[in-house]
Amino acid sequence: MKSTNLKIGLFLFLAGGFSFSSCTTDAELFAGISSNMVTVDAEGSTLITDIGLKSLSNGTDALTAEQSDWLKFMREEEKLAHDLYLSLSEFYATTPTFKNIARAEQNHMTAVLTVLTSYAIEDPASSENGVFNNADLQALYNTLLEKGKVSLVEALTVGALVEETDILDLEKVYDITAGDDLKTLAEALNLGSRNHLRAFAKVLNANGVVYAPVALKADDYTAIITSGWEKGNAQCNGDQIGSGKKYGQGSGKGSGKGFMGGK
Ligand code: MN
Ligand code: MN
Repeated sequence: MKSTNLKIGLFLFLAGGFSFSSCTTDAELFAGISSNMVTVDAEGSTLITDIGLKSLSNGTDALTAEQSDWLKFMREEEKLAHDLYLSLSEFYATTPTFKNIARAEQNHMTAVLTVLTSYAIEDPASSENGVFNNADLQALYNTLLEKGKVSLVEALTVGALVEETDILDLEKVYDITAGDDLKTLAEALNLGSRNHLRAFAKVLNANGVVYAPVALKADDYTAIITSGWEKGNAQCNGDQIGSGKKYGQGSGKGSGKGFMGGK
């Protein structure tokens, strides 16, 4: 039923301009990332400000090997985004997108590290730019950097592809945990990735290119790209649907399928 509601919410938003003026008290419906947890700038660069990360673990919980591996992978995947955008920012210094989003990725790396540390898991990330312990991420970084050096459009396309990949890897959290802490982290990072995907697509558009998704399903991509910057959900502010913020509320609501909610 909840999934159905979310689908209807998205539909109404896409259908245009429906305003949701009543104040709901359904705590579960609004249990996602709230507006005080993230900061989004005018171009979509998204910082995680406070999702209670320091208190996620009670100090006694242990992660399964699968959960630990996912967390370590995400630490390095956020680093891949950071290192790549930072490197590309030097090639395309007049396009501030790379430097701005690299700053957000640094923040995302820190968010993952906070959780790793809270579970006393060793940090897999090298302090050296462009160096990765995970061989797949090393190979991906090398390939994408070469591709990005070709032209600004290629570099922006690389950015969009990284964000698509992030979204899908972050959604894997729903397969490995029923707990809230890793999901909260993943949902905040995913909100950031959806905004960054919108940001790269927007700058591509300004350069005359319509981005076509590579990793995401076409309708999932369309749902993201036709909605505005997500700034987290505010309860009872009366504009969740009309503003497009409704979309973010769909994140991980019980269906285990990530941002499409009941899909
Ligand atoms: Mn990120
Ligand atoms: Mn990102």
